[in-house]
Amino acid sequence: MFIATVISPTEREEFTCSFCDLAYPTEHYQILLHNKKLAYFRLEESGLPQKAREDIPSDCLCHGCLYDILAREAKGGKELKIKFLYFGKERYGIIDPDDESGFY
Ligand SMILES: [Zn+2]
Repeated sequence: MFIATVISPTEREEFTCSFCDLAYPTEHYQILLHNKKLAYFRLEESGLPQKAREDIPSDCLCHGCLYDILAREAKGGKELKIKFLYFGKERYGIIDPDDESGFY
């Protein structure tokens, strides 16, 4: 299962998506996150077997790239389970590669 943790705006001074280079300083990220416009995630995979992947784990991904990566992982396979951690709250989601609507 994949675990995506929302990164707190107070954690760093500058946030850059390691995939698309989308970057914001803390004060902008705080506003965007508060308004649900943008979230940066840490992405890890728990459990075995671990496959070697280029993009996972990642310590800073914007929500758009997170979705792209997970949709690619799910492609051709079955649904992908994901656990979201949002400031201590847990939420579970399922990535369906046929659903284009995203999850944010
Ligand atoms: Zn990105």
